[in-house]
Amino acid sequence: MAGTPLTTHTQVVSGWAAHDPSGKIVPYTFKRRENGPNDVTIKVLYCGICHTDLHFAKNDWGITVYPVVPGHEITGIVTVVGSQVTNFKIGDRVGVGCMAATCLECDFCKQSQENYCDKMQLTYNGIFWDGSITYGGYSKSLVADYRFVVHVPESLPMDRAAPLLCAGVTVFCPLKDNNLVGNPGKRIGIIGMGGLGHLGVKFGKAFGHHVTVISTSPSKEKEAKERLGADDFILSTDADQMQAKKRSIDFILDTVSAKHSLGPYLELLKVNGTLVLVAAPDNPVDLPSFPLIFGKRTVKGSVIGSMEETQEMLNICAKFNILCDIESVTPDKINVAFDRLVKNDIKYRFVIDIAGNPTSSL
Ligand code: NAP
Ligand code: ZN
Repeated sequence: MAGTPLTTHTQVVSGWAAHDPSGKIVPYTFKRRENGPNDVTIKVLYCGICHTDLHFAKNDWGITVYPVVPGHEITGIVTVVGSQVTNFKIGDRVGVGCMAATCLECDFCKQSQENYCDKMQLTYNGIFWDGSITYGGYSKSLVADYRFVVHVPESLPMDRAAPLLCAGVTVFCPLKDNNLVGNPGKRIGIIGMGGLGHLGVKFGKAFGHHVTVISTSPSKEKEAKERLGADDFILSTDADQMQAKKRSIDFILDTVSAKHSLGPYLELLKVNGTLVLVAAPDNPVDLPSFPLIFGKRTVKGSVIGSMEETQEMLNICAKFNILCDIESVTPDKINVAFDRLVKNDIKYRFVIDIAGNPTSSL
């Protein structure tokens, strides 16, 4: 595989890890590789808590290698720059998302779609080029190959920008791929107003669409409309509301982290409409055929975005002032945050203040 040769892992780093499927996060000291010629070392300032972190911590998908140091919504400051790195310097404000490495050689890598490289390795629970397990952003510092690092525009605050590195690009790319950027006036729906979903609303409005939030939480209606600017709200547990909005939406983005059926949501799409699934529940979603065939509808998937798209998305966020709504937590309260995430009790993203005060008011 392309990339760095075998490296030494001598940098001792403080972080936080889960050690078993209880998902409980505890302090963990581990070693990272020395900064290689293509690497930058980053002092981590903030790391978002993505629902994916919870899936991995609890081994929901059966692929977790313990101990796992989660975190792929990372912002920080460059502290060391490798000899071959020309686009970053010490002191730069940077971000790292979900990818640590790809093959750099396949068609997807060559066409800046490396998030679809089948050798793509994740920022945590991946296997880096040197064979080591990757550890994520729930840690004081990170060593990353420069090809998997982006610049955070000056106008974006580092804490509210952190979740954009995963949640932001994950909702931005399906809009871009489905011709919903620079093509206003469509009716789009966002299922699940959580970390990903609330950013989907913000992008949808910035791109000039009529945005409907489709949610299980009545408490989110007022906020969706008044603060996030959503045009409509459907309570998905209310059959009458779902019935009234049948065949009304062109495009739906599904961000629901729990098992669900796509059937009722597909009925909301117009004929020829598209639903993009970005959510990854631990159990397969139900896909009944009738709403699919009688509406000539399409269901697609999408995973994060390329590094080029991640930079593009951050620049767009700077232009439209799109930021994540966050609740800041200190590292000692990650487990409290996890529990609240399970209960859907967060508006809309926890962000760990990695470099800040060690105690929290939570
Ligand atoms: P999140 O903040 O927990 O939001 C998920 C939302 O889903 C909740 O806010 C809730 O919205 C809704 N929901 C929860 N339980 C539900 C249920 N039983 N039935 C219906 N709706 C329910 O999670 P997230 O961080 O946004 O992540 C969402 C999913 O995307 C996760 O599975 C994550 O692993 C996945 N993900 C995928 C990618 C990718 O590249 N494809 C990237 C990042 C994350 P309401 O209260 O509005 O109903
Ligand atoms: Zn994520």
